[in-house]
Amino acid sequence: MELYIHFPFCVRKCRYCDFVSYPGAEGSIPAYIDALLAEAALRKEEVTEPIDTVYFGGGTPSLVPAHELARLVRMLRRIYPLQHVTEWTVEANPGTLTPEWLKSARDQGMNRISLGMQASQDRLLKLLGRIHSHGDVEQSVLAAKSAGFDHLNLDLIFGLPEQNGTDWKETLLAAMDLEPDHLSAYGLIPEENTPLWTDLQSGALQLPEPEDEREMYEEALQITSGHGFQQYEISNFARPGSACRHNIGYWSQVPYIGLGVSAASMVFVRQGSEGMKYLRKTNVNSLSHYFRGISSGHPALDEEAWVQGREAQFETMMLGLRKTEGVSEADFFRMHGVSLEAGYGPKLEKLAEEGLLYHDGGFWKLTRLGMDLQNTVLVDLLDS
Ligand code: SF4
Repeated sequence: MELYIHFPFCVRKCRYCDFVSYPGAEGSIPAYIDALLAEAALRKEEVTEPIDTVYFGGGTPSLVPAHELARLVRMLRRIYPLQHVTEWTVEANPGTLTPEWLKSARDQGMNRISLGMQASQDRLLKLLGRIHSHGDVEQSVLAAKSAGFDHLNLDLIFGLPEQNGTDWKETLLAAMDLEPDHLSAYGLIPEENTPLWTDLQSGALQLPEPEDEREMYEEALQITSGHGFQQYEISNFARPGSACRHNIGYWSQVPYIGLGVSAASMVFVRQGSEGMKYLRKTNVNSLSHYFRGISSGHPALDEEAWVQGREAQFETMMLGLRKTEGVSEADFFRMHGVSLEAGYGPKLEKLAEEGLLYHDGGFWKLTRLGMDLQNTVLVDLLDS
């Protein structure tokens, strides 16, 4: 089982961001840690097996003062079975890290850090509204390594306004120079009602052409593989043995509990001849509603629904096809009690004829074209 904790605090809102985060609300952090611990205790019965990965995401977890983070971890260890955790990731924003904070995070058991590098050009970082320069990223990587973080992810974004192929190649090579063992490279998806979206709507900024964006993705595949990285998911690359187990768990439908504002959970998972069934929960996405819910002694839920039957099968396809290993026929049968052939056979054959999927040793996988047209594949599967 996996544990995710969301920290909805940021120094400033980036211009493209629609994640749940509150700039300037750092004063609420001690109360938020109290609320997280209360939620953890309230939902203790949802943790039905030992936890093997933990992920502190946000927002900006590195804004949480070291002593508050230490208090959270110390108390969580008393509430949940965390003694078998093998991977403990913390997201951090360059520009917020100090050697003391990094040392404390390591002392608490965190062994993987994920830094939002995004681009190596300061003009693009400024356009995105990031709070850091590329120099800050370089310093943060050095500090994280000195503190003993051997597992390091860098997040990058391509397909940015004002970003050309040369910028992107420079960014990839700059990332490689920092010697991470994991890289995430996501194409920009402009989110409605963000400042960046407004600039795109008004014509003040323009996105690169789709063909240029495809070439950027191709460049990421080439440069990462040339540096010994293996692609294991559409947007994720790792050195052998360094793939993120927490994220692989999501894409493989391993149960997880999410604590904090806007966090999602997948709990009480049952698999087998009756078909897969699980409870999906999503917490409220407002900090004040979260505080109010928890202080009244109830989990601060926004939605809760059982997922089963065709919906659960589609999630297996949607999440599994993101992985380069694809969807396993044996796993599908074990999870849902029906064969993949019976569930999706004719549709899979049709998508294979169109060059979007292929069948390989008991797995169905996206082709390179299928990765570009993943949404088309999913819409087709949803209709079947
Ligand atoms: S640091 Fe991350 S979560 Fe915070 S505003 Fe920027 S993109 Fe959003």
